Parts: sequence; C-alpha cells; structure tokens
Amino acid sequence: MERRIYIGADSGATTTKIAAIWENGDAVTTQLLQRKTNSHAGRDGVVAGWIAAIDEFLTANGLDWRQIAGAGLAIPGPYLGRGIMDKSPNFPAEFAGWNVQEHFVRALAAKAGRNIPLQVGNDGNYGGVAEARVARGNCNASVLMLMPGSGLGCAYIGANGLPLEGDTLAGLEAGHAPAVLQVLGITAKPLSCGCGRDWGCVEAYTTISGLPQLLAEKLKDFPDHEFATSSMPIREKAFSLRDRAQKDDPLAVAIFDFQARVMGLHIANLAMTLDPGIVVIGGGLMDHSTTTPKFRERYLRIANETARPYLWNLQRDTIRIIPASLGDLSQAIGAALVALYAGQNAG
Ligand SMILES: [Zn+2]
Repeated sequence: MERRIYIGADSGATTTKIAAIWENGDAVTTQLLQRKTNSHAGRDGVVAGWIAAIDEFLTANGLDWRQIAGAGLAIPGPYLGRGIMDKSPNFPAEFAGWNVQEHFVRALAAKAGRNIPLQVGNDGNYGGVAEARVARGNCNASVLMLMPGSGLGCAYIGANGLPLEGDTLAGLEAGHAPAVLQVLGITAKPLSCGCGRDWGCVEAYTTISGLPQLLAEKLKDFPDHEFATSSMPIREKAFSLRDRAQKDDPLAVAIFDFQARVMGLHIANLAMTLDPGIVVIGGGLMDHSTTTPKFRERYLRIANETARPYLWNLQRDTIRIIPASLGDLSQAIGAALVALYAGQNAG
C-alpha cells in the first residue's frame, strides 16, 4: 500500500511554499517548492495556484493525490474567524472576509475526487509547531518561539504539540506587548508601532519595523559616526545595519546588543506567564545565509544573560534558549504537522 502523506501550504501575499510529511511526522523532502501567490489574480486565482503547486510538488516527489490524508494551510493574520481573512495591508482589499477554509476545501475535493480534511491557521503558530517538534526531540517540553524579522512572530506550543491560539485567534501576539522600558533605562517617548499602540511594543524594539526609529535614537550616542552626517535615507541606513554589525561597526553592534537585551527581557516576561522549557529564536537574525555564527551567538548570549536574573530558580537551571533550525521550511511543515495531529486526535 502507498504511504500516506500530509500536505502543508504556507501562503504569504507574495510567495506560497509547499511541503509534505509522512505519517511519522518526518518531512518527505527538505526541498521546498516555492511559487508566486498571485494575489492579483483574485481569490479563485490564488486557490488555483495552491492546487497547481501541490500537484507539481507531488509529481516532483513521485507522490499522488490518493496518498494525501490531510492538508494544512498557514496564512498570515489578522482574521475575522477561523480560516477567514480580515483586511490585511499585504493582500488585495477584496480578500477581507474571504473564507479561505471553505474555498480551499472545495478545490481540494474537486481535484482529489474526495474530501480532504483541511486545517487553516496562523503562519507564525504553524512555524512554531514545526520548530517545537525538532527542538523538543524525545521530551515533551513546551516551546516558546520568537521570530524577529520584519515584525515579531511569536508562538507558544504546548506539550500536545499544538499552538496556543486564543479565543479570537490572537493568542501570542506578544510582539505587541510593551517592552519593559524602565529596566531598559528608556525615558524618551516609546517607539511607535504599526499596530497603533502607544505603549512601546516589543516589536518596535526588536525587529526591522522599528529599526529606523531606533537608529535615529541611538545615533545621538554616536555623533562621530558616518551616518550622523550622511544624506542616505534613514530606511536605507537601517537596512545596512545587520551587515555593518558583522563588520564590527560600533553603532550597529550597539543596536543589535540593545535589541538582544529587549528580547531577553521579553523572554523573561513571557516565561512568567507560560513557563516554557525551551525558547527558540528564529527569523532574520538567526538566518544562516546572511549572518555569521559570531553574530548569532552574541545575540543569543546577550538575550540569555539578560533573561536569566528575572527567571525563577528552577527555570534558570533548566530553560534552554536556542536558535531555530528549519528556516523557510518551518511554516509549511508546521501546517502539515497540524493536519497530522488533527487526524490523530480525530481517529
Ligand atoms: Zn504593536
């Protein structure tokens, strides 16, 4: 008999990624299939694109639609309900109110000639599901995942392998909790955040989204730095910081050290509520293709050292803060894993 598989699709506004796992949870391949999402082609166009990408993935791996026991789809929030998109700055306006769950289930059934159970959920949460499976290995520790990138993705994966989603699917939107400004010695007006909150969201202090503001602040401490007089736009300067930090530019190093401290305090803060056994740090700052081991180790060390004094004794002895390992694969694999777990719970 042919082996059963679970398909995972991870669809952002520009790119859709497809992965699959076997029934034991292992990835069919680490070769991710990536295709354009084609948001401009409308709802039908996007769903047709997902089906075509799955078809292509199956063919490339010698698999067949008959083998698919379940599917998972990771999409970015916000949502109006489970599987229903809300207005999002990255998608066409007409996608607001789109019941993706229903639409995709219909398309999968039409293609496969039978019903395929589908799970739809938050992309960051699903990424956490996949990273948690790797990080915990044979133990069932709970996992807090933090992914500083353009924004701050956060997820909490319980001992059952599934994410904490919350009653309005906004669970672990922890990037928009306030940074501990008084411990950081910040007396200036809190940085503003795209979400509109004025309390100094952690996301603004730890990700690319707040980097131009942070740079403008920190530049005051480095009056002799070339950026102080350069006419380069502030966003461009901000984007160059990660490379500069890896070439020991003191301003850039100071900024990422500061971001790591904010992250450390955020870890301690969340540990007071969630008490995770493992904290996984992912995102662009842990990206092996653009950062050096020295850069990653320094960030993790500072986050670790900053968090520990605020933890309980037992947490301090046992908590592990480690880098993510799946990179771009995590969200598609996580979507497939959620489909697998849902099948196991139903059966
Ligand atoms: Zn915010």
